[in-house]
Amino acid sequence: MDRKRIYLSSPTMHGEEQKYVQEAFDTNWVAPLGPNVNAFEKEVAAYTGCGYAAALSAGTAAIHMALKLLGVKRGDVVFVSDLTFSASCNPIVYENGTPVFIDAEPDTWNMSPQALRRAFEKYPHPKAVICVHLYGTPAKLREIMEICEQHQVPLIEDAAESLGSTYQGKHTGTFGKYGIYSFNGNKIITTSGGGMFVSAKEEDAKRVTFFATQSRDPARHYQHSEIGYNYRMSNVTAGIGRGQLLHLEEHKARKKEIYRQYQEAFADIPEIAMNPLNPEGDANCWLSGMIIDDQCSVTPDQVMDALQEINAESRPIWKPMHLQPVFAKEDFIPHYEDGRSVGEHVFARGLCLPSDIKNTDEDMELIIQTIRGCFGA
Ligand SMILES: *Cc1c(COP(=O)(O)O)cnc(C)c1O
Repeated sequence: MDRKRIYLSSPTMHGEEQKYVQEAFDTNWVAPLGPNVNAFEKEVAAYTGCGYAAALSAGTAAIHMALKLLGVKRGDVVFVSDLTFSASCNPIVYENGTPVFIDAEPDTWNMSPQALRRAFEKYPHPKAVICVHLYGTPAKLREIMEICEQHQVPLIEDAAESLGSTYQGKHTGTFGKYGIYSFNGNKIITTSGGGMFVSAKEEDAKRVTFFATQSRDPARHYQHSEIGYNYRMSNVTAGIGRGQLLHLEEHKARKKEIYRQYQEAFADIPEIAMNPLNPEGDANCWLSGMIIDDQCSVTPDQVMDALQEINAESRPIWKPMHLQPVFAKEDFIPHYEDGRSVGEHVFARGLCLPSDIKNTDEDMELIIQTIRGCFGA
């Protein structure tokens, strides 16, 4: 096939990235510390209003460090969004904690406050709640924070997919006790790989930086009173991040435009609904997704196959964590009291559409006509 590949979400570089990377080389700051790392932290903190940030090698490492700060240990229960990527919950198991998966709700596909309330009835003393903002759509933060406050349990926001999204005018990642961002290659901005831990408190970011640089005690020799990690971001990749951050708003605007283009294009097909947005938020629309009505005979697989025919990349919705073989023994709290799961339904009937900001108008037109064709429209 010689038709060019249309991507789901691939890196988009602008040139400034190379300037900062060049600086790192010119000054020989080719190490997991340096001026780009410090500046990138300050710049992300200024952009999001999060307070303080610690730049790490991955978003997964940032979640791990958040759980570390909270002292999660063997047997501790941690509530976590069920409809997400496995990186949201793997770090719970690194610390020998027990994930309890909280179903999604239908309005935003994020953590269901109803299910969360029922989870607290069953497990009154979880160590933390990890809430994801799926595909960039802010979760129902008001309800979730209210429940967490009522039970005095800290909230960690997994904002890996939602950098740039706001809720009630404030950036996602800045509502919980701790927040995390990811700069993996497919995210809205990238450092090729990387992540950030954020907190309103400077001492938290400092403590994470300490853990992430092998927990070295202040001494001339190498001395350690605690287990350390090699999780710091490289000064080279932080340079990529600084260049990317200059274009985050532009990436967000284009992602939102792609979402709108799909929404308008499918408005006359009642069997199709777009992935929901939160009316109290402004989503970065990292990935546009759609869901097909239960009564319709068209399946997500058929749509993905048709997109494959035009060399366009699409993807199933994240497979819910409670359906993953590795987590088969863990508990799951469904949204509906009768046991029906929203996440299972979204996984069965939904898919992610090509959302690359380099898609041309012709690419979008081809994708849209291909999908419309699946529905005989
Ligand atoms: C990408 C992602 C992560 C992990 O970030 P990495 O930087 O790839 O480690 C965590 N949670 C969610 C929801 C993600 O999409």
